[in-house]
Parts: sequence; structure tokens; C-alpha cells
Amino acid sequence: MTIQGRRTKIVATLGPASSSAEIIGEMIDAGVDIFRLNFSHGSHADHQKNIATVREQALLRGRYIGMLGDLQGPKIRIGQLQQEPMPLAIGDQLVFTLDAASADSMQGRVHVTYEPLPSSVAAGDILLLDDGRIRMRVTGVVDEEVHCEVTQAGLLSSRKGINRLGGGLAADAITEKDLEDLQCIIENDLEYVAVSFPSHAEDLKPVRDALEAAANKARIIAKIERAEVVETDENLQGIIDAADGVMVARGDLGVEIGDPQLVGVQKKIIQFARMSNKPVITATQMMESMITEPVPTRAEVFDVANAVLDGTDAVMLSGETASGAFPAEVVRAMADTAIGAEKHPTMSQSNYRVESTFASIEECIAMSTMYAANHLDGLSAIVCLSESGNTPLLASRIHSNLPIYGVSRNLSSCRRMALVRGVIPLYFDATKSRNNVWDAVMALIAERGELQAGQRIAFSCGDFAGQGGSTNTLKLLQYQP
Ligand code: PGA
Ligand code: MN
Repeated sequence: MTIQGRRTKIVATLGPASSSAEIIGEMIDAGVDIFRLNFSHGSHADHQKNIATVREQALLRGRYIGMLGDLQGPKIRIGQLQQEPMPLAIGDQLVFTLDAASADSMQGRVHVTYEPLPSSVAAGDILLLDDGRIRMRVTGVVDEEVHCEVTQAGLLSSRKGINRLGGGLAADAITEKDLEDLQCIIENDLEYVAVSFPSHAEDLKPVRDALEAAANKARIIAKIERAEVVETDENLQGIIDAADGVMVARGDLGVEIGDPQLVGVQKKIIQFARMSNKPVITATQMMESMITEPVPTRAEVFDVANAVLDGTDAVMLSGETASGAFPAEVVRAMADTAIGAEKHPTMSQSNYRVESTFASIEECIAMSTMYAANHLDGLSAIVCLSESGNTPLLASRIHSNLPIYGVSRNLSSCRRMALVRGVIPLYFDATKSRNNVWDAVMALIAERGELQAGQRIAFSCGDFAGQGGSTNTLKLLQYQP
């Protein structure tokens, strides 16, 4: 098993509080599986330094750690304030103007660069600033200016985001900056790239095209953070189908649809992703209080546990590890919480897709392997020999408390599998030991202290080691050293 038998994976965002080799090493020891590089902040040189440090620290520990490059996307923000912070009290009047020259925060006039703003809002709309901390009601649109009245007070500072309650403020999902940042992600061979604010499947296409043009294998994570995406099942399914995985991006989504609605929507996104054989990350404000405090609140523990019970592959830390005071402690708190939640009996109850038929032989073998493994006495582990990591992903969509070893001769596949719930990546080159693959892999697992004589093991594999998508065999063996 992974650290202390945990199945749910941890994604941690790097930032000023976590860019030294020492802290990154401590975070890996505490249980990070995937590091997130947030391209909304930092230069390419900063990211490159972090990438090198993560690889070096992972190698030192013999761990397969993946990395996710998160593109900024078209987040709509206010401009620079003439004086900040700008105190806003209930009842204050505020004007958003497209004309930078006429902006003057002292006079309650704030610049926005988002040209469609005046035509996208109407009197009565609610606008949310700074992730929902400040609220205002639109009182009218006059020429190119949006007039508002503050309904929830707060301190506003420059470049904070704006959302409209109910969604509808949209821009092209991929900006020029995103395309430049994508080149950095490609050059550094990161395992995952996250696309921010896609409205529909086509928004992922420029990224897919750029990856294909570069023959790069990074998988695309679509961040679900717009109200319109979750408005209909078709929209949501369309984006999931076009992506390789999804993120429940609760920061922006929660602001647009409201947290009470988000509870059910989170469950639905996770369920849709699992049914579509895609990994899913649950993100944002999971242990927010640990930015400044050494222990989480009980509500935060329950929130993380709830995502685990919903079936998420991974839980994510943002500000907690990027700028918080306890980057390693919060990872440990999250790991402990996941382990606790995974003890719930439903987490090992198999949800076989008894009603399903499968178009692919690979998926049929993955499902059969899980069925056999969960029903054979004395079985202690599942091994999927896999070129790309796809068979272990398919197998992991079925609940089980047995470890699934994703065995691959590709280091990048091993790092990618770090995101997938219940999967333990293991590097092994089956092409170099044709005669005795099974014994060699069992010895490898036994060496880790995770397999004893007489225990049984379920293998899925293909006829030819090293050929992707060729899985067609289920093999049941007993370990006899
Ligand atoms: P962000 O995305 O942190 O880049 O905004 C995640 C979210 O919105 O939850
Ligand atoms: Mn977001």
C-alpha cells in the first residue's frame, strides 16, 4: 500500500511557503502524491526550479510523484486600485468602468478589462468579488459602466476576481498566456495539465492540439468551475468525455452556484467522472484554517472525509501548502483524515457494473480482475501490467480494499498513476524478463513487505509486454518464494 495504507491521493500546490528542497521533501514524506504548479503565479524560472526540486526529492526517496501544471485561464479580474485596500461598507456605491483613465478607487470607480461586462449583466444581478467575500447588487448599466451597491462588506484589493451569481461571465478558455505556459509544461514533461474555466468540450481543443503537435503525453484535467457546465448533465458529460480527468474546482464553482448547491454537485461530478473511467480531484478550501493554524477544524476534517466517501481520487491543497505556515502538517492531517474515512464499510464494497456491457476487452479484463480479486479467498493484491497506466485506472473504478499495483516500464506512466485512487505505481520493465514476469513482480512486492508466502495475487496483462492497450488476460497465482 501507499503511505500507511492510504488509497485516496493528495495533490499539494507549490508556492513561496513550499519551494525549498527541505519542505518539499517533508511534504513528500507526509504523503503528497502530486504537486500542483499554479501558473497564475510565478515565472517559468520559478516553476522550473520547483520541478527540478520535486524530481530530485522524489528520486531520493524512491517515490513516483506526478506534477500538474494548472493554467490560469480567463479569470475575470478587477484592475489596479489607485489606493488599496479599498474598504467597502454595505450600501456603498461602486462603479465598474472599462475606461482605465476614468477609474479612481477613491471615487468608488474601479477598472475592469473584461469588455463584455456591461452587456453581460443587468440590474438586479449579484456580483461576487474576491471568491465571494464581497458582494454587490447591480443597480444599473449606464453606457460602458456597471453601477453597483455593496450588499456584503469587505476590504477590496487590486486584481481580485469577479464572478456573477449563476454564472455567465465567460471568455475564451485558453489565453495567449496559457499557450505560453503550456509550452513550459510540455518542455518539462509534466504528467497533467489543468484547463481553467472551460465552458464546453471545444474549449479543451487548443490544449489537446498543442499536446498532440508536440507528441506530448500530458493528460488534460478539466476544471469544473462554471455554473453553466453543471446546469445540464449533457454539458458536464461532454466536458468529462473531452478531458482525461476533472477537478471539482470549488473555489469558483462554489461562488457561482452557492455552497449549499455545491454539496450535491460535488457528488454528481465525482460519480460522473468515475462512471466515465476518469480520475477526479476535489479542490479548494479543504483545510483552509491550517494556513495559519497547526490543526484543522472538525468541519474541515469532515469535508475532506466527505470527498473521500464521495469517491474522489484525490483531495487538493491550495493556499494551505502554497503560502501557509504548516505545509507538511496539513498534508499529514489530510492523509490521516483520508485513512480514517476509508475505514467506512462502503469504501470496500464493490460496485460491479453488473448492468454494463463493455466495448473494450481491456475494460472487461479490468472488471473481471476486480471481481476475481474481491471474491477469491486469500487474495492480497492486484497487479496490472500496464504500458500507459490505463488498466489500473479502469480497475480502480471498482471499490475494493485490496492494493492495485500499476506496474509499468514507463516512468512517466508511474508518475501519472500517482493520482489514481487505490493504485500503487511500481516501475518494472517486463520486456527485460520475458520468462518470469510473474515471479519477478511478486518478488518485488514481497521485497516491499507487502506479500507473504501462500498469499494469492491477481494479474492482468497482455500477450506482449510493452504494447499499450493489449490487455486480454487475467491470471491468478499463489506466491511461493
Ligand atoms: P483556482 O482553481 O485555485 O485556480 O481558482 C480552483 C478553484 O477554483 O477551486
Ligand atoms: Mn478557479
